[in-house]
Amino acid sequence: MNTKFNKNPKIIFVDDDKSIRDDFRKFLSGDSKISRSADKSSADNVNLPRYDLDTALDWEIALKKIEAAVKTGNPYTVCFVNVLLFSGLGGKKTIKRIIEVDDQLQIVVCSTYADHTWEDMFFELGESHNLAFLRIPFDAIELPQMLLTLTRKWNLSATTRMDIDKLQKAVQDKTSELERVLSDLEIRKAAEMEAKKERETAFHKLEKSLHQLQQLVTTDALTGLSNRRSFDEKLDEYAHLSERLKQPLSCIMADIDHFKRFNDDYGHQTGDEVLRQIAKTLDNNIRKTDLIARYGGEEFVLLLPNTIQERAFEVADKLRQAIQDAEVLSAGITHRVTVSMGVFGRTVKASEMLDLVSNADKALYMSKDGGRNRVTCFVED
Ligand code: GH3
Ligand code: MG
Ligand code: MG
Repeated sequence: MNTKFNKNPKIIFVDDDKSIRDDFRKFLSGDSKISRSADKSSADNVNLPRYDLDTALDWEIALKKIEAAVKTGNPYTVCFVNVLLFSGLGGKKTIKRIIEVDDQLQIVVCSTYADHTWEDMFFELGESHNLAFLRIPFDAIELPQMLLTLTRKWNLSATTRMDIDKLQKAVQDKTSELERVLSDLEIRKAAEMEAKKERETAFHKLEKSLHQLQQLVTTDALTGLSNRRSFDEKLDEYAHLSERLKQPLSCIMADIDHFKRFNDDYGHQTGDEVLRQIAKTLDNNIRKTDLIARYGGEEFVLLLPNTIQERAFEVADKLRQAIQDAEVLSAGITHRVTVSMGVFGRTVKASEMLDLVSNADKALYMSKDGGRNRVTCFVED
């Protein structure tokens, strides 16, 4: 029940005898003077409250009033009732009904004790901390003192309940706040996870694109070999390594013989197929550590690390032979082409790497001049 602290305690007196009800009013109204008059100074100290007095002539009326008071949030504090009113109703049941309506109400059962012993009333009404007994006729000291105790008890209980309510509300507010914070945290965590996932996906995509771009930039689209640009970069690496390790480095330049005529005779597409086939043949017949690239239109270049010129010549001739033997099937026709090659190899300084290529190229032209389909080594002066 939600009640507030009662400054002017509400008291209800239930009796069917008008004169007793009037007595009750007389005892407790009139500025509580009756209760104070015995000892004025102590009464001042006690500071007795003013009571908000009400009466009812039977239980049904009293119950309705009690119920209405609870509903408006301004309940009665103490209810005095003549025990004789219970006869026929069953006191225990009636008290139970009242407590159901207002479990804080202090009920004072008034009796002359003429017809009822305390034991009678105890068994009739049952054990309850809401119950007190008062002998009729009222005693001028007994009644106000009892009211003081009961209203104080009621107020204490109301204050405690208010404190508990406040505490429960505070706990509830804190719990809701914590739940909100927790839920915010979870939402934020989920969003961060999502963002992290998106970042990772974007990063992988970027990595993939970069790799593809790298491939595009460094690879020749027709043959799949390294392109000229990639070769130039790697030539630098190979030359530096060769210088550092003091190892010979050989270069082979290869150029397809009369390829213009071949294209003219069989078409550009067949020419492309030949280029692909030659790239494959070259690639399949060299070491993993050797470098091969498409140097220009129908020119290929190879770098053979740790290889002397004589050995490079043997490799080149083996490659030349392999190309001569390779058959290229296109549009139902078998084709064969030859290549001319130039070789140059020695221990180079990194700064001489371009000589490596140009000397091999010069040797290649010697092969062309010498009749093609052959390998020539460049001989330095
Ligand atoms: P040589 O024996 O003196 O090298 O004669 P060649 O005809 O091979 O030399 P030339 O430099 O006159 O012609 C090279 C030809 O290579 C011309 C061009 O049509 C062809 N070629 C270059 N790149 C490609 C290509 O990607 N595909 C095809 N099908 N042909 C190409
Ligand atoms: Mg050429
Ligand atoms: Mg050519």
